[in-house]
Amino acid sequence: MKGLMKIAMLSCKQSSILSEKQELVNLSIVESIKLKMHAKMCTASKSLSIDNKLIDQAVLKILEQRKEQNMSLTAAQREKILQALR
Ligand SMILES: [Zn+2]
Repeated sequence: MKGLMKIAMLSCKQSSILSEKQELVNLSIVESIKLKMHAKMCTASKSLSIDNKLIDQAVLKILEQRKEQNMSLTAAQREKILQALR
């Protein structure tokens, strides 16, 4: 049973990778179960997951605010930046 648990348990790094993958695509059933098992048993990864979600939400909020405030560059500003880079 110990060997089976060792196979089933993810490391924190593996858990982090699956957590990020989950944001982009659907996980397989096995991946999803492993991730949930790890999250239940590892407080460090649970905290990291919460922190990442907060950061994602904060970035999305900033992007939405910029969109609402029409904070994009004008064509003249864009050209000025491009000239400075040349
Ligand atoms: Zn962990």
